[in-house]
Amino acid sequence: MEGRRVFVAGHRGMVGSACVRRLSHEGAEVMTAGRDTLDLIRQAAVEDWMAEHRPDVVVVAAAKVGGILANDTYPAEFLYENLMIEANLIHAAQRVGVAKLLFLGSSCIYPREAPQPIPEDSLLTGPLEPTNEWYAVAKIAGIKLCQAYRKQHGADFISAMPSNLYGPNDYFHPERSHVIPGMMRRFHEATARGDASVTCWGTGTPRREFLHVDDLAEACVFLLRHYSDAPHLNIGTGSDISIRDLAEAMARVTGFGGDILWDHTKPDGTMLKRMDTARINALGWKAAIDFEQGLAETYRWFLDQPELRA
Ligand code: GDP
Repeated sequence: MEGRRVFVAGHRGMVGSACVRRLSHEGAEVMTAGRDTLDLIRQAAVEDWMAEHRPDVVVVAAAKVGGILANDTYPAEFLYENLMIEANLIHAAQRVGVAKLLFLGSSCIYPREAPQPIPEDSLLTGPLEPTNEWYAVAKIAGIKLCQAYRKQHGADFISAMPSNLYGPNDYFHPERSHVIPGMMRRFHEATARGDASVTCWGTGTPRREFLHVDDLAEACVFLLRHYSDAPHLNIGTGSDISIRDLAEAMARVTGFGGDILWDHTKPDGTMLKRMDTARINALGWKAAIDFEQGLAETYRWFLDQPELRA
């Protein structure tokens, strides 16, 4: 990546900021554009920006993201914004001759009843989990756009689907976030107030696979270097934990000593969501960050953000 001009779209988000950190270590010339200068939903703005800046490589880390309730509550935003962002970036990248593009999505693209661990080939073999189908449909369209531009124009556009992510710069909203930042914020606030209990969502029985975003960034650089093919690839750790075990780990990490209660009126979502990572492992990449260490380090980062602390 030495000296290559890499545009990271979505550099303020958790994934984009991790990619920027990692790519800078590689000696790449990282290019970014804030929302004030480039609105990715506007096609003309994206085309003009690409024509002016002509990156060699594009990482599509920009997306409208949120947890299970946000997806369910704002379906139009999740579908429309994600479709526009990816269509504008992929199309403009092809028009200006970008040499390589990496499109990122997530494991929720797979059918609700996909075999476990989920192989890449189970894409489009059954109905999606309804709580996040809006985001998922947009991300499936993004994978297909990359494949279509490869097929029709010979563009070297690849896609990677990480499992549930966590780490610095996550979105720590008590209601709208994914489970790790949402729980972290509530456990932290409960500990600070000395509350006797914290309430988590659902039954605690679903299992999730959590990947540290720095592991993902490592995988992205690996794929930009070594992968040039149409099929999308899964990126994960290959292991999962129950939401109940996650809540207990969160209590240890945040020092919360009270009771953990479960609100059964909140959705569980899909019960199992572990990805089959055999393909990327066979190419020579494996996740390296231990889960509880990654969680503790994310909490230290959280404590350093004055606007997040209670
Ligand atoms: P998902 O992987 O797409 O289902 O997204 P989430 O990260 O939002 O939720 C994962 C699981 O954690 C679901 O079973 C939720 O019911 C459960 N969960 C427990 N507590 C929370 C919480 O505070 N926030 C969120 N978002 N999920 C929670």
